Amino acid sequence: MPITKNSVVAFAYTLTDDDGEVIDSADTQNPLAYLHGHSQLIPGMEKALGGRDVGDQFSIDLPPEEAYGVYDENLAGAVPHSAFEGVDKVEVGMQFQMEFPGGLKVVTVTDVDPQHVTVDGNHPLAGETLHFDIEVVSIRPATKDEIEHRHAHGPGGAH
Ligand code: ZN
Repeated sequence: MPITKNSVVAFAYTLTDDDGEVIDSADTQNPLAYLHGHSQLIPGMEKALGGRDVGDQFSIDLPPEEAYGVYDENLAGAVPHSAFEGVDKVEVGMQFQMEFPGGLKVVTVTDVDPQHVTVDGNHPLAGETLHFDIEVVSIRPATKDEIEHRHAHGPGGAH
């Protein structure tokens, strides 16, 4: 049964960046499971998995547009400490919700100095071209619950 809308797919993968550095991986013993056709994965990855079958192995290169998006400089910048009223100590790595012209975004603190806090609302992999080596481990039809929840259940799934 090839992968189609509402297939629950388990796959192993290795994700590397342009320098060949491994960013993330899952092996065939502990594959990642997702519900196909519900935008659960980044767009280019879901597209590449459609129609594949169990045992298929393939590699894909995804430009930022098909992965985590291009880096948007408007989402990063320095803000005064007064923007963090009520927070005891603002530290690098902390995440906050902030209002942007397009709505609320989660930002990560990337730098703190006495005058400013620098935040970045881009995904950590924004602007990166990503390389995936993928192996399809299993495919099954989704249950009613899974389609209702719009995600895969069981090992490797949402819960
Ligand atoms: Zn659920």
